[in-house]
Amino acid sequence: MSTFPFWVAGKPVTSGETVVVRHSFDGSEAGSHHVPSTSDIETAVQAAHDVQDEYATLPAHVRAGALDHVSRVLGERSEEIAQLITAESGKPLKWSRGEIGRAASTFRWAAEEARRFSGDLQRLDTDPGGTGRLALVRRVPKGPVLGITPFNFPLNLVAHKVAPAIAVGAPIVLKPAPATPLTALLLGEILAETDLPAGSWSILPVSNEESAKLVADPRLPVVSFTGSVPVGWGIRDSVPRKHVALELGGNAAVLVCPDWTDLDFAAQRIATFAMYQAGQSCISVQRVYAHAHVYEELRAKVLEQVHALGTGNPRTDGVDVGPLINTAAATRVESWITAAVEAGGELLTGGKRDGATVEPTVLANVPEDASVMADEVFGPVVSITRVESVEDGVRRINDSRFGLQAGVFTRDLPTAFDVSAKLRVGGVLVGDVPSFRADQMPYGGVKDSGVGREGPASAMADFTEERVTVLTGL
Ligand code: NAD
Repeated sequence: MSTFPFWVAGKPVTSGETVVVRHSFDGSEAGSHHVPSTSDIETAVQAAHDVQDEYATLPAHVRAGALDHVSRVLGERSEEIAQLITAESGKPLKWSRGEIGRAASTFRWAAEEARRFSGDLQRLDTDPGGTGRLALVRRVPKGPVLGITPFNFPLNLVAHKVAPAIAVGAPIVLKPAPATPLTALLLGEILAETDLPAGSWSILPVSNEESAKLVADPRLPVVSFTGSVPVGWGIRDSVPRKHVALELGGNAAVLVCPDWTDLDFAAQRIATFAMYQAGQSCISVQRVYAHAHVYEELRAKVLEQVHALGTGNPRTDGVDVGPLINTAAATRVESWITAAVEAGGELLTGGKRDGATVEPTVLANVPEDASVMADEVFGPVVSITRVESVEDGVRRINDSRFGLQAGVFTRDLPTAFDVSAKLRVGGVLVGDVPSFRADQMPYGGVKDSGVGREGPASAMADFTEERVTVLTGL
């Protein structure tokens, strides 16, 4: 097993204590890493601060070339990286491979956006006082970015912080999740092969306490956070004068309308993306509202599809559902299932736990205030509820403190437009579950689910601000 260095101002550091990262399925060692000292952290932050002006003027072809390089090498090293993602996160290999493809796409899109990221010209002679004047509106980095990432996509969510920062020329200090830091540290090896200035990037696997100090550091004016709701909003409240973007959790819902006839397809998508990564995706299908016209048949088909999923060791090809990130998470999910059944919900399948693994679980008619409905389960649990009308379904989806994405199975165009206009979420998937994300599209939530949008173009806008140069006498 490898011991990974951390990265300070683009250089690998192998001093200090080491921490072992373990596989949640069987406790085996996934690898270990060195831990930055206070002085390593200080060097990284000061380097980001010092390089910012020089970095902002680095030609676009150098930034785009570096991003293309990372995208290409991720493809070349994909099998090795997939094994590492599975080892540290417990996610089935097929999903780890999928994540690498997505991360390569995120870097490639950022390269393309870097090439076309330009400003704007605005005429000012629309009033007599502006005669002979022209405004050049450029976007310049707000300053160094602190990127903080969660455990469930150890590569692609890191890519969504690092790639747009490189694309606009904003230095970045990345703080990966303590449970899954190794893939981010491996990414450092690939970044180090590029021509980016050394001070422009650091990867620091530090504790939550050190992470909170980085949040407070005035030399990092932009915080881009992906993670849980309480931590995210706590960060934003702690630094009201900073620019803080939050990509947080949710309890994503699907509405199956009465006109939808392909229930096999809907059931297959629901089962797959309720149990995908053992439910540890922020847009995992958690609530299904099925119109009375399709409810019984859909429920039976979802059960069939869930029973067909292979559970077990995530390193085995063909396994669909592996363990949760740790036993504590699995114990919490198990207790929420028990509470849902005690509150009157029907347990259709699953419900048992073995170590960090929870059986794929389907519940029906669970009261809306039970945790498996109202809170974020982040486990392989889906609840199906019968609704009497499309309006009732929309109302129930909206009656949540979260709003990340929602899915609507309908082929009726007016219904599709009407429902997607009424759903208070960041994105609506028509004809699919809410769990689809193309990495170039604007992605993010409303209400407790966060503020701001990711996707290379959106994050590049977020990491920069307009600077106007008024040219006179032209
Ligand atoms: P978490 O909030 O526990 O941790 C996220 C990161 O924040 C980690 O790197 C952690 O070390 C750091 N952190 C924790 N406390 C901190 C503090 N006080 N100050 C600064 N940093 C701190 O989240 P997690 O358990 O790793 O991830 C799961 C959560 O992430 C779920 O809620 C999920 O929905 C969410 N998520 C959201 C998206 C999205 O794009 N909206 C994507 C993936 C995951």
